[in-house]
Amino acid sequence: MLITDVRETLQRCIDYHGHFCAGQSLGVRLAKKGLELAAPEDLKDLIVFVENDRCIADAVLIATGTRLGRRNLKYVDYGRMAATFINLKNNVAWRVSLIPGEKEKNSGPDAKEYVLTVPDEELLVWKKVKVNLKKEELPGKPLRTVPCSKCGEKVFDGKDFTDPATGEGPLCKACLQGAYYEEAE
Ligand SMILES: [Zn+2]
Ligand SMILES: [Zn+2]
Repeated sequence: MLITDVRETLQRCIDYHGHFCAGQSLGVRLAKKGLELAAPEDLKDLIVFVENDRCIADAVLIATGTRLGRRNLKYVDYGRMAATFINLKNNVAWRVSLIPGEKEKNSGPDAKEYVLTVPDEELLVWKKVKVNLKKEELPGKPLRTVPCSKCGEKVFDGKDFTDPATGEGPLCKACLQGAYYEEAE
């Protein structure tokens, strides 16, 4: 799995994302470097963590072929311009990010082309990392599905909790910590 034709990949990203922005160029560059480093033979060996939900997220998913719903794309809400590429076969993981301060330099009108063509060393930082992936996080059939003892809804993939104060459980995250929504009338 390598990105050999950057412009062809970029075009597919633009088609999916809906506009051409520096984020598409950067996402393609992150994906290209990450795939080179992690070197998965095919998609089933690859897990990608993307660290924001802005433009680069769309480019990373198109350029790598990973998908949230296939569980090979993981979204972590860090608000950072970075992604981590894991080769499940040999457990090698690389985190690729933007050189600090690079965003400002790349925000001018020529940024899209600059980001697409500048050498790796002038745009990106890459570090070998370890990711503690639980087996419940991997693609495949759910290993654990339990009903929440409070709301009754099914909780998949070991995402249930026991209340540390009361011992009550299993509980979904919303029932334990409070939800992102409130019930309206
Ligand atoms: Zn965009
Ligand atoms: Zn619940």
